[in-house]
Amino acid sequence: MATAPTTATATSASSARGHRSDLDVIVVGAGIMGSCAAHAASSRGARVLLLERFDLLHHLGSSHGASRTIRDAYPNARYPPMVRLARRLWRDAEAESGYRVLTPAPQLSLGPRRSAALMSTIKNAAGTEEVADLAQRWGGAFRAPRDDGWVAAVSERGGGVLNATKAVAMFQALAAKKGAVVRDNTEVVGIRKRPAGEGGGVVVRTSSGEEFRAAKCVVTVGAWTSKLLRSVSGVDLPIQPLHTTVMYWRIKPGKERDLAADSGFPTFSCYGDPHVYGTPALELPGLVKINYDSGPPCDPDRRDWAASDAEVAQRVARWIEEVMPDHVDTEGGPVVRQACMYSMTPDKDFVIDFLGREFGEDVVVGAGFSGHGFKMGPAVGTILAEMAIDGKAKTAEEAGVELGHSGSTGSTAIPWETTPRITELDWGRVVLSSHLLIQS
Ligand SMILES: Cc1cc2nc3c(=O)[nH]c(=O)nc-3n(C[C@H](O)[C@H](O)[C@H](O)COP(=O)(O)OP(=O)(O)OC[C@H]3O[C@@H](n4cnc5c(N)ncnc54)[C@H](O)[C@@H]3O)c2cc1C
Repeated sequence: MATAPTTATATSASSARGHRSDLDVIVVGAGIMGSCAAHAASSRGARVLLLERFDLLHHLGSSHGASRTIRDAYPNARYPPMVRLARRLWRDAEAESGYRVLTPAPQLSLGPRRSAALMSTIKNAAGTEEVADLAQRWGGAFRAPRDDGWVAAVSERGGGVLNATKAVAMFQALAAKKGAVVRDNTEVVGIRKRPAGEGGGVVVRTSSGEEFRAAKCVVTVGAWTSKLLRSVSGVDLPIQPLHTTVMYWRIKPGKERDLAADSGFPTFSCYGDPHVYGTPALELPGLVKINYDSGPPCDPDRRDWAASDAEVAQRVARWIEEVMPDHVDTEGGPVVRQACMYSMTPDKDFVIDFLGREFGEDVVVGAGFSGHGFKMGPAVGTILAEMAIDGKAKTAEEAGVELGHSGSTGSTAIPWETTPRITELDWGRVVLSSHLLIQS
């Protein structure tokens, strides 16, 4: 079980240092992004308060569970440098904390050759080689459908599995060690600009009426972003929460070794329809995680926990029967299911930016991680912290991470048929200053 840092109140911590208004940065939301941002800011010597609405390490957002994939393979060449920066920071955090959260693995990208996203993924991932003998590799776990030209490519050191909840706990613990105050069960309901004559900065208000003052605020509230920003500043960000399901399937008897992480089984992404991804068997003995990369729209405050994910499970089962029939049992459906949420932007790219309007550069937003942000957590946290403290993301620049709004849309080959509302959203309504929006 991951260890959470001791929760302290802002008052107790700040009284040791002075008044509440002495805070440099308030981070709102303690998922992976907020926890990494709090760690990065406190590592710079900033006085940091990290506020979380629910219990620390809760299961109601997007950062819980035992596994997330890290992969260098991306259809857009702008992401791999960010993954490389994140990998370096994951290693640093592991070394600093003594935790182990990253299990390296090869990364396999496969699917029909006609998939433009797959072909550019293969091109963009360093060290990727086509797998000519897919039917023999990994004990014959994968079988390419006969009907149309499939391609498979592996990068031996390009993948890996992150222990998600433990990783969040690691960054919270490191932030607390550096002096950040981590406080849970504290819902932020308001952020307002403080007039320059009163010292400037921002005032953050909680649902219990407490107010905290700080020079800067970082908002990392995941699926709640649109709601909070609309009420705080009237900004209407088109970030749509999706109800997604993590599914673990039974490995057929005798095939467990073939799919095990320590046998070199890869993390994998299968492009096309359905877009399916999976991780080596690791966290639940005898089971393997194979998921569908989407889900129906949801309201994060009114989730239907009984929502039927039968259709999604059937899609994945059909894929397994076609591609991994000898190794994975679909009889009876997935053995373990866990609810989660994606926060989708219309083009699956991140929103990392200053809030603008009356807040100028005093409020930084990190949101819309569109189901692929976890691996980037330490890089995103560093970017957010540097934007808050310095006004620019120097570490990312130095690492060759290109931040900017390319204005391109529809670059993804992921089918959106289960999320029709996404395509109806008007991305052009985004009123954040756009120079640091990342687009793939
Ligand atoms: C099923 C699933 C599989 C995924 N697989 C991968 C993967 O393999 N690889 C990968 O890189 N990514 C993956 N992702 C995506 C990744 O997990 C997310 O991008 C990432 O966790 C988002 O983190 P976050 O901090 O933005 O959001 P969250 O983790 O949701 O954190 C936001 C926090 O803000 C808090 N909050 C909300 N409102 C308030 C408020 N008003 N006041 C205070 N606190 C508030 C919430 O309670 C929450 O704790 C997956 C996601 C899911 C759901």
